[in-house]
Amino acid sequence: MSAGWIAVAGLGPGDAALITPEVTAALAEATDVVGYIPYVARVAPREGLVLHPSDNRVELDRAALALDLAARGRRVVIVSSGDPGVFAMASALFEAVEAQPDRQGTDIRILPGITAMLAAAARAGAPLGHDFCAINLSDNLKPFAEVERRLRHAARGGFAMAFYNPRSKSRPQQFARVLDILREECEEARLILFARAVTTPDEAITCVALSEATPEMADMRTVVIIGNAATRRVGRWVYTPRSVPA
Ligand code: SAH
Repeated sequence: MSAGWIAVAGLGPGDAALITPEVTAALAEATDVVGYIPYVARVAPREGLVLHPSDNRVELDRAALALDLAARGRRVVIVSSGDPGVFAMASALFEAVEAQPDRQGTDIRILPGITAMLAAAARAGAPLGHDFCAINLSDNLKPFAEVERRLRHAARGGFAMAFYNPRSKSRPQQFARVLDILREECEEARLILFARAVTTPDEAITCVALSEATPEMADMRTVVIIGNAATRRVGRWVYTPRSVPA
């Protein structure tokens, strides 16, 4: 076997202080960095390090490139924002490995990172302090009808929810539909949090009642968190109690 390896690393939500020492060590040993353009841009260039930035929506090509490089003995870090296992490159890499059984012996490590919803929750207080789920609102990889179905089930199940990829220019009307569904399933006073560009200089956090929420409050740099029925304010904080009455 070649000495090459792949580390799929999470760069966290933005602030360099939130990159784990394990990820920093992998980047220091790497010969190649592969990833979506803005994420590769977060890696400091140095002599001997080859950067391979690529566009959005080419995850499988990117994974195949990383597998080829590792087979040639290169030490490859695939970078994701947040955590690489949350709507990101780790699953894409395993899909590529599944499609190329001769690559199954590749030395692969997944290095976790701080995902957007946890960074956002920490800024606000503890809105995810009880049972919660995370839903990707993008319909790139699943039909929007499935997004709607999951949303309703999660709301009826009493979960707090974190929404990734809430709104893009290519599908501006869908987040309005998401808010309509939430209004059908939840009470008007339910707290909803819009956390934009968390831990970056552009950070902006807004918390409103569901009745006050508008689609423009979210964009692709926002993670949206809606509380459960018990989520409430305490001073400037928002938190979800650890218990549910019997
Ligand atoms: N792997 C990433 C998520 C990739 S999907 C993670 O674990 O965080 C991209 C979505 O993540 C964005 O549309 C947005 O909803 C969310 N996101 C990523 N970074 C963010 C940040 N700093 N602040 C708010 N939301 C963020």
